[in-house]
Amino acid sequence: MHKALLVSDLHLEPSRPDITSSFFSFLRSVHTRCNALFILGDLFDVWIGDDEESELAASVARELHLLHDSGVDIHLMHGNRDFLIGAEFAARCGAQLVEEPHILELEMQRIVLLHGDVLCTRDSDYMEFRAMVREKSWQAEFCSRSLQDRQAYAEKARAQSKSATSAKSSDIMDVTPEEVLRLLEELGLSNMIHGHTHRPAVHELDLPFAVGGATQGRRVVLGAWDTQGWYCEVTEAGITLEQLPPHTQSAS
Ligand code: MN
Repeated sequence: MHKALLVSDLHLEPSRPDITSSFFSFLRSVHTRCNALFILGDLFDVWIGDDEESELAASVARELHLLHDSGVDIHLMHGNRDFLIGAEFAARCGAQLVEEPHILELEMQRIVLLHGDVLCTRDSDYMEFRAMVREKSWQAEFCSRSLQDRQAYAEKARAQSKSATSAKSSDIMDVTPEEVLRLLEELGLSNMIHGHTHRPAVHELDLPFAVGGATQGRRVVLGAWDTQGWYCEVTEAGITLEQLPPHTQSAS
């Protein structure tokens, strides 16, 4: 693999055709420019199970499968909004689901990939909720409910998360710096790419440990696609964070 592109936090939803349209243009433009695409979570703003039929899901699956057919490996990671995406939908996309943390190996580089919510350890309410909903038994029970029940639950969870988020301080909502270093040290790596916080940036890290003799690391944060697209490009030359022009309203 010589070039990988990474995106996250598209938060696709039927009420935002502008984002969907930008995403599809992006996908159509990348097939000759990369060997792999990683979607690092929150592709959808909400996902209540692979059995929910929607036009949006069908069109996303179709576009991703076209990219897969053109020879690009597609890797799909769960976010905190779409962690219920299952093997069935991944197969429809021609994608493979990857667990976090996932190690991207490209030429001489090894980079830790995450959605990012697991790094926000200071948000203890959320970490508790996350532990619950990531249990296989919780998910099995949830998916056995009617679509209507699941929709109602998702809507309530979204409203609660919105009001809780506005009440929490800004640093609680960001990653815990010590947790970033702890994970990198545990994995013996120096570079990380994640999304989730919607705070796109390239952070240079001074590591309190050495990786291959070096004590410099980097944490690259992908942006959310709310007003414009963001992606990371990883080549043998390193990692860059790129932005796309603002979305335009589209009829499609
Ligand atoms: Mn997220």
